[in-house]
Amino acid sequence: MRGKETTVYCDNCGRSIPRNKAVAYEKGISISTDLHTENDIRFFERKKVYYCISCGKHKGIFEKKKEQAQRASQRENRY
Ligand SMILES: [Zn+2]
Repeated sequence: MRGKETTVYCDNCGRSIPRNKAVAYEKGISISTDLHTENDIRFFERKKVYYCISCGKHKGIFEKKKEQAQRASQRENRY
């Protein structure tokens, strides 16, 4: 809808925040079906979460984002 801000919820404190002020962060979750057999199937799921600015700072999201960007560029160099 025009003129209406999309509101997201902080994954940490649950506060509702306008999306343009939220810190988006991609969490990687690995799921393993069975660790002890050879039929182990692993999933790596990416989930996008949002944090409010204060939680983002508190949880070091900005640092993590920097790290992720570095890792991504390293990966690009390798291939
Ligand atoms: Zn928060």
